[in-house]
Amino acid sequence: MNRSASAPNDTTTFTAHESAVRSYCRRMPQVFARGQNAMVWDEAGTAFIDFFSACGALNYGHNDPAIKQAAVDHLLSDAVLCGLDLHTPAKRGFIDDFQRIILGPRGLDYRLQFPGPTGTNAVEAALKLARKVTGRRRVVAFSKAFHGMSLGALAATENRQARQGAGVPLPHVIRLAYDGDDRSGLPGIDQFEATLQSGSEPPAAFIVETVQGEGGLNVASAPWLQRLAALARRLGAVLIVDDIQAGCGRTGPFFSFEQAGITPDIVCLAKSISGLGLPMALVLIKPEFDVWAPGEHNGTFRGNTLAFATASAALRFWDQSAFHARKCGNEQIVRAWLDRMHQMFGSFGVTPCGRGLMAGLRFGEAAQADAVARAVFERNMLIETAGPHDEVLKLMPPLTIERETLVEGLERITDAISSVVTPVRVIERVAA
Ligand SMILES: *Cc1c(COP(=O)(O)O)cnc(C)c1O
Repeated sequence: MNRSASAPNDTTTFTAHESAVRSYCRRMPQVFARGQNAMVWDEAGTAFIDFFSACGALNYGHNDPAIKQAAVDHLLSDAVLCGLDLHTPAKRGFIDDFQRIILGPRGLDYRLQFPGPTGTNAVEAALKLARKVTGRRRVVAFSKAFHGMSLGALAATENRQARQGAGVPLPHVIRLAYDGDDRSGLPGIDQFEATLQSGSEPPAAFIVETVQGEGGLNVASAPWLQRLAALARRLGAVLIVDDIQAGCGRTGPFFSFEQAGITPDIVCLAKSISGLGLPMALVLIKPEFDVWAPGEHNGTFRGNTLAFATASAALRFWDQSAFHARKCGNEQIVRAWLDRMHQMFGSFGVTPCGRGLMAGLRFGEAAQADAVARAVFERNMLIETAGPHDEVLKLMPPLTIERETLVEGLERITDAISSVVTPVRVIERVAA
């Protein structure tokens, strides 16, 4: 093997040749070589606890043995790996498992569309289809929403920096205030309905994250989601839930909208649907809205059979009580820890946010969240921040993280927060 003899964690190759667009690796510049559930090791052999989970693409951790075995078996069987949208046993297996384990028990009736293998492509498909179904142009998206980086999805995304990259206008989107975002200065859904009564064309769709990931772990309440669903129905608009980050168990149940008792017309999934971190995306469509013409939203990599095989293996976890017990136990540990952080640091402006294992702490000042994230990283953990000003420390451990590793990670974060938040403020208070 002709491999260059770089020193461990040498980043010269990346900084010299890779585009300036790279982002996460700037804060976490090690060269990460191996992963096992919630642990990753860099090239020098240093172990990190992963509370990042590839932004929610690794809900079942790194290299879960059962999922990895499914990948190995699939490769060794000489299965067709790139299937376009041809019929393959792996795709049949995934569709059957998804019906049996996920849709059937929840009484959900959806057609499955496999778009290109990224979340943003699932969102493009959903928006196109909603426009085709209704013959209308505009879609409603919410403050702090993140839906992806391709132009259609980016139009629905609010983040200013992301939008600046477009280089063209991003039209046909109406922006409303997300549930509880009173400071956005935008109209809420009730005000919006009032303006519509004076004659303007109703929207093709509402697209919403029930818990906003990149937008800062904002949680929409069940009554708000129910009002939104009712409004969409009254207006003949399509309700799209973008469950790309919040789905696959991240907020507790498989779908993030289950607790609200709503049934979206279209659901977008990606990130953790393949289970192993392989590219795969899925659009769920109510049968009456499946008005696509054959090939109308095409794509080369819609038949990644390796991802179908690992996705099936991951779905089988949802049939196993041990998986549910560990996930629920972890959710409780995080909930209790958030309460403790609120008690310890609430007076310094630190408040819990999020739901399930999509949890976080909101800091009064973005600089604090940034300093804490750095302090956490110094304690050998992978973590990121979220929110329009990166003011939220985002905790996204694998759902399958071992209890001891979770507790150890939370202790390191407690320590990091104490090192950043308390000293300055204590001095201020003593001086006051
Ligand atoms: C990550 C994400 C997307 C985009 O998915 P990509 O695979 O990065 O294109 C869309 N919506 C939400 C809510 C996401 O978190």
